[in-house]
Amino acid sequence: MQSVEYAVVGGGAMGAATAWNLARRGAEAVLLEADELASGASGGPGRRGVRAGGRDLRELPLTRRALELWPELDAALGAPTGYRRNGLLNLYDVEIAGLSGWQSLPARAQAQQAAGIPCTIVDRERLDEMQPGLAEDIRYALFTPDDGTADHPATTRAFAKAAVGLGARVLEHTAVTGLAAHADGAVTLHLAEGEHLRATRGVILAANRSTPRLLADAFGMSLPLWEKATQITFLAPPPGFSLDHQLGHTRRSLSIKTTDEGHVMLSGGRPGGWDPATAVGTPDPDVLRTALADVAATLPALAGAEVLAVDNSRADTSTIDLIPVIDRVPGAARVFVGTGWSGHGFALTPAVGEALATWALDGERPDTLRPFTFARLGVV
Ligand SMILES: Cc1cc2nc3c(=O)[nH]c(=O)nc-3n(C[C@H](O)[C@H](O)[C@H](O)COP(=O)(O)OP(=O)(O)OC[C@H]3O[C@@H](n4cnc5c(N)ncnc54)[C@H](O)[C@@H]3O)c2cc1C
Repeated sequence: MQSVEYAVVGGGAMGAATAWNLARRGAEAVLLEADELASGASGGPGRRGVRAGGRDLRELPLTRRALELWPELDAALGAPTGYRRNGLLNLYDVEIAGLSGWQSLPARAQAQQAAGIPCTIVDRERLDEMQPGLAEDIRYALFTPDDGTADHPATTRAFAKAAVGLGARVLEHTAVTGLAAHADGAVTLHLAEGEHLRATRGVILAANRSTPRLLADAFGMSLPLWEKATQITFLAPPPGFSLDHQLGHTRRSLSIKTTDEGHVMLSGGRPGGWDPATAVGTPDPDVLRTALADVAATLPALAGAEVLAVDNSRADTSTIDLIPVIDRVPGAARVFVGTGWSGHGFALTPAVGEALATWALDGERPDTLRPFTFARLGVV
């Protein structure tokens, strides 16, 4: 049986980033990907938001670290991630609507600033200068200038390529079918076609939607996640339309970005149809109608814009409190898990890779990972 110090299961952004961080610390690492790199949630068309604005407060320390790392990543990896920092405007249109009303805005700004995330409250006059053409009912925005977007498959491949450059092995078309932890701390990974691999110092499970099954089979754990294929829509913008920042809407499931091709990309979290058994997504016409109504009500210039494509070919995993699980398996001290990103994990990638590698190498949970336990979900 071959052996390696660390095995990382899953060649999405998280697995590739973890493998790179292990390799740059001098560890021997192998990244095992069932299909091809970025064939899960880290693949697909468009761009992904790299945002701190509007995040769950428990994620802010990890996000802050990610936002420190993103601008240096192309140089550190020696390959492009497509990262662009253009700021996020989160729009507010009503006074009282739970946490999405503008009454809560000063509290949100204070909490973000205290966590080291720069942000400012923007009034309507200033908003008109920053993004002309917004609907009349929008009153304020929270501007988070350090937010941006990146190219998710390019980032995944850049991490993997840089890991290989440091001596890691990346094995595509190599599915892990099971694992078994031993008393000496080593873990045996069962690979398709009857092969085995022994990881002597640790295993990082970054297989996202397959992680619950691997944990159930190996450790009898029941990880309460579900799969969600966020539906995204691409529009042809009308002549003269421009978007200088990403836009979010606190009361609508709406996020608006521009793509490298100059198209307008709508996302925001509404899921289309998805079959977990076949991993096939089916666009939902009602979700499309709602997205188009939401964007028309937010940026009237986009009402009636031509729909170029609708995609829900990728699924992420969600938790009940919409923050991830990044923890060590109870009773298997050298098996680490990162999953349950709840539709906004990509932004965290550089910091998650760094923190998981640090924990696996040094044995101590980094403070940024403290909120993301199994225990809070009732998993023991
Ligand atoms: C449409 C959409 C839009 C999104 N928008 C944003 C956004 O704007 N901002 C943001 O921050 N996040 C966003 N996200 C979430 C983000 O993309 C994910 O949280 C992130 O990509 C998860 O990365 P991952 O590496 O954990 O998982 P994945 O990319 O899913 O990777 C898991 C990998 O494991 C492999 N695998 C599975 N089982 C096995 C096995 N048994 N053996 C070996 N390999 C295996 C899979 O093939 C896959 O490649 C979005 C997600 C989607 C779907």
